[in-house]
Amino acid sequence: MKTNRERPAKGSLRRSLGEIWKSEPQSLAMAFGLGALEALIPLLASLLSSLFVDGLEAGRAFGELAALALTGAALLFLLNAAMGKLNRCGLPHTEYCNDLVEWKFCEKNMKMDYAHAEGPEAAALRSKIENDYNWGCGAYFMIPQFQRCCAGVVGSVCALALLLPVFAQGNVWLHWSTPVFAALVAGAVFCSVRSEARMGRKREELKNRFDAKTSRANYLMNRGVTYREGKDIRIYGAQPMIRRALRESEQNRMAAAESRLDCRAGILDGALSGLLLGGAYLFIVLRALDGALTAGSVVLFAAAVYRFSESLKTLSKSWNEIRMNARRMESSFDWLSLPDTMENGGEPVRKEEARGVIELRGVSYSYPGTSTPALSDVSLRIEPGKKIAVVGRNGSGKTTLVKLLCRLYDPDAGEVLLGGKDVRRYDYDEYLHQFSVVFQDFQLLALSLGQNVAGAEAYDAARVTDCLQKAGLGERVRRMQKGLDTPLYRSLDEDGVEVSGGEAQKIALARALYKDAPIVVLDEPTAALDPVSEHEVYNGFRELVGDKTAIFISHRLSSCRFCDEILVFDEGRLVQHGSHDELVADGDGLYHAMWQAQAQYYAEDRGLFA
Ligand code: ADP
Repeated sequence: MKTNRERPAKGSLRRSLGEIWKSEPQSLAMAFGLGALEALIPLLASLLSSLFVDGLEAGRAFGELAALALTGAALLFLLNAAMGKLNRCGLPHTEYCNDLVEWKFCEKNMKMDYAHAEGPEAAALRSKIENDYNWGCGAYFMIPQFQRCCAGVVGSVCALALLLPVFAQGNVWLHWSTPVFAALVAGAVFCSVRSEARMGRKREELKNRFDAKTSRANYLMNRGVTYREGKDIRIYGAQPMIRRALRESEQNRMAAAESRLDCRAGILDGALSGLLLGGAYLFIVLRALDGALTAGSVVLFAAAVYRFSESLKTLSKSWNEIRMNARRMESSFDWLSLPDTMENGGEPVRKEEARGVIELRGVSYSYPGTSTPALSDVSLRIEPGKKIAVVGRNGSGKTTLVKLLCRLYDPDAGEVLLGGKDVRRYDYDEYLHQFSVVFQDFQLLALSLGQNVAGAEAYDAARVTDCLQKAGLGERVRRMQKGLDTPLYRSLDEDGVEVSGGEAQKIALARALYKDAPIVVLDEPTAALDPVSEHEVYNGFRELVGDKTAIFISHRLSSCRFCDEILVFDEGRLVQHGSHDELVADGDGLYHAMWQAQAQYYAEDRGLFA
C-alpha cells in the first residue's frame, strides 16, 4: 500500500473534490460563495473608506457624502446578510455531504465481501480512516478548507485589482521606489508562501510519523469511555495502563510538536507581515509627500497591500491543508475500492431448491493472510429436514464450515451446493435469505427488543412475542414495562435494559426463529444458558425448528443424541460422521475419545455431589 507521502496530490485532490461534488454539489457551491464574500467584504469596506476620504479631501457636498455612506452601509449590510444566510444554509449541506460520504463507507463495510471485511487490509484501512478523521481530515473538513482556498484566490485577485489603479495615479510606475517596493512585496510573498508550504510538509510528516502510535492511544481511549469494558478494566486494574498511554500518548507529543511548528511559523509570518506593511507605509508616505497619491488612495493602498498578503497566506495555507487532506482521503478511497470478488450468479432461489439437499464437494478454505487451511477437502451431504450436529475441538473448522455454508466466504477449492446447484449461481441476497444463523459471537443492537428480534423497524408484534416465548424469554418480556418497545442496553437510552448473556442468547435465538428461513444454523446455541434453559432448548429443539434443515454446533455431546447425524471435525477435516451410537461404538474414533472425556467428567461430577 502506498503511503500518503508517495501519493500524487493532484489525482487525490481531483478525486476528493469530485466525490464531494457528486455527493452534494451545493456544499462546494456554497463554500465558494462564502469564500468570495469573506474576501470581498473587507475590500469593499476599504474601497468605501478611500472614496469617502477622497470625497472629504475634494470638499464634496454633505448630501453626496451622506449618499455614499448610506450606499456603502447598505451594500455592506446586504453582503453581510448574504454571508450569514449562506453560512446557515451551507452548514446542513456540509453535514449532509459528510453523512453521505460516511454512509458510503458504512454501506461498503456492510456489503463488501465478508472475508475482506474481517481481513487485515480492511482492518488497517479502518484504523487509518479513523485516525485521519481525528487529525481533521475527510470530506467534512475539506469543504471549509475549499472555502478558505476560494477566499484566498478571490481576495488576492481583487486586492491586486484595487492596487493597480493606485499605481497608475500620478505616474507612480515611473518612480524609482516602485520597483524597490515591488521587489519587497514579491520577496515577502515568496518567503511567506514557501514557509507555509514547508510548514505544511512538516505537519504532514509529523502526522505520518505519529499515525500508528495514535491508533493505539485512540483504541485505548475508546475502550476507557465505554461501560462494557468497565468491569474488566476495574478487575484487572488496567486504568493506570490506559491513563499512562493517554498521558504519554503520542497525540500529546504530536500536539506539542505541532504547536512548536506553529510558533515558529507565527514568528516568521509576523516578521514578514511587519516588513511588508512597513515597506508599504514607507512607500505610500514617500509618494503621498511627493503629491502623487490622494489621501483616499493612501487608505486604499495600505488596506489592499495588507489584504493581498493576507489572502496569499490564506491561499497558501488552505492549499497545503487541502492537498494533505486529499492525500489522506485516499485511504477512504482505497477502502471504497476494496475489490468484491464474490460471484453473484443472480439466479433466484426456488422454493424446492431452498428445501433441497446441502452438499459440500472437496471444499477447502484458508483465511486471507494465513497459510494453514481452516478447512481441507471437506465433502458431506445433508438431506432436507435433517437435524445435524457438528462437533470437534476448538479451532477444528466448525464455524468456518457454517460461514462457508451461508456464503460469508467462498471456498478456495471445491463447491457448496444447495438443491443440486453451486451456490455461486444464486442471487447472493436471496441465498442469504435462506439462512437463520445464531453465531457464537452474535450481536444485538441498542434498539428496541422487538426491532432486534425482527431486524427491522416495523414488525409483526404477535409473531415476535411468539418467537420470544419459544426461545424461553416469555416471562422476562412480560416483566418488561415497555414490552417489545423496551430498549436494549443503555448506550442510547437511559431506560435501556441490560440483558444477561443467557437472555441475549435467547433473543438471538428468537431472531433466528422470526426470520423463518428454511435452514437454521446454531453455533453453540446454549453456551450462555442455565441448565434448565439448555434442557428446554434441546428438548424443544425439534419443535422449535420444525421441518427445517438444522445444523448446530455443540461441545455438549449428550445434546447431540437427538440429531440424525453427527459430523466430527478435526484440524479442518471431516474425520467421522454417523449417529451418536455408531460413533460411540467406534472405539478408535475422536468422537469416542471426546465422549469418554465428558462421560468421565460427569461420573466424577456425580461422585463429587453424591
Ligand atoms: P471452531 O469453530 O471449530 O472453533 P473456526 O472455524 O472458528 O474453529 O477456526 C478454524 C481455524 O481458522 C482456527 O485455526 C482459527 O484460528 C482460524 N480462523 C478463524 N477465523 C479466522 C479469521 N477470521 N482469520 C484468520 N483465521 C481464522
